[in-house]
Amino acid sequence: MLLDWIPGPLIRTFASPYVAGDSHDQALRVARELLDRTGMLCTLDLLAEEVQSTDQCSANERAYHDLLQAVAADPHFPSREVRPTVSVKASSFTLEPFDRGGLAPGSREAVFRIAATARDLGIGLTIDMEDHTWTDFTLDITNELFASGHDVGTVLQTRLHRTEADLAAIPEGMRVRMVIGIYPEPAEIALTDKRAMKERLLTQSQTLLERGAIVELATHDEAIIQRFYSEVVNPGNVASERFEIQMLYGVPRGPILRRIRNGDLSSNGTGTPSLRLYVPFATDWSQATAYCRRRLQSNPDLAIYVIRNLLQSFFGRRSGVSQYDD
Ligand SMILES: Cc1cc2nc3c(=O)[nH]c(=O)nc-3n(C[C@H](O)[C@H](O)[C@H](O)COP(=O)(O)OP(=O)(O)OC[C@H]3O[C@@H](n4cnc5c(N)ncnc54)[C@H](O)[C@@H]3O)c2cc1C
Repeated sequence: MLLDWIPGPLIRTFASPYVAGDSHDQALRVARELLDRTGMLCTLDLLAEEVQSTDQCSANERAYHDLLQAVAADPHFPSREVRPTVSVKASSFTLEPFDRGGLAPGSREAVFRIAATARDLGIGLTIDMEDHTWTDFTLDITNELFASGHDVGTVLQTRLHRTEADLAAIPEGMRVRMVIGIYPEPAEIALTDKRAMKERLLTQSQTLLERGAIVELATHDEAIIQRFYSEVVNPGNVASERFEIQMLYGVPRGPILRRIRNGDLSSNGTGTPSLRLYVPFATDWSQATAYCRRRLQSNPDLAIYVIRNLLQSFFGRRSGVSQYDD
């Protein structure tokens, strides 16, 4: 594939608007600046998929415990409300992942240990959703951790047909990030039409709110965010503590985020919800470039977004944290 021939430094250039850096210190710096300058929150994620050795599994887990300790020790984030949450992919801790036919040995235990540290330090954790081979495992461990008092949330992908049934098993009060899903899935089990996936973002978020869950709507689609307000939040008088809007760090969405912060989309004083950016970091740039290469390979649309984004910042648009300033 052509992408395999693109040199690492060029991929790094493409990745740089979306990755905070190559240490948790750099991710925390972004989190501090965003909070100070805009009041926006973060969820921090280590780029660590497709591990190649047991040493790497252990290093990934250690990196998460170190990250949690660093978040808890940072005086910028004195309370749960402003503290970054942490997002974790269960595949980061196993050499035999479900998507390569394995049973993910070691993964459950590592996620449980990380969840215990997060709970002890008062930090929210979200277990990211990977491709459909991971769905049962991810929902099972999230439900088990939630039932035992952990501040843990899950992710549902509207493209999967099974999600309609999965909604019914979400317990009251759980945080659920609603996404269309990044992984291409077979047509037998998933929608292939993006517009239909987006419609489900609205209907399924509404169902979850009715079930008493906390919805984290994660999309860069401005029309869908506006419809979420006009068709779900405003008519239902949904209180701002019941939902959150999330986006990926680096995707140029400053104007709509500012409109939400100013309360422009809320018709009846439902308040301003939390706005949270997903901020990935690596422990070295080779991990980050490998991650971006894989994402571009599985999702060729991304290449167009990324190039457009880079060209716009080259021609003078603000980038980094400053693009979110008021
Ligand atoms: C906070 C967050 C967490 C997520 N977690 C998961 C997860 O756990 N599991 C999972 O499967 N998926 C996850 N996703 C990805 C999600 O499933 C979608 O693939 C992704 O958000 C793109 O869908 P969209 O709804 O933004 O719509 P799209 O139609 O893909 O994007 C709308 C517009 O946003 C712009 N845009 C989108 N992406 C980029 C980009 N990278 N660079 C520049 N512009 C861009 C483009 O202008 C595009 O037209 C997450 C997304 C977010 C925002």
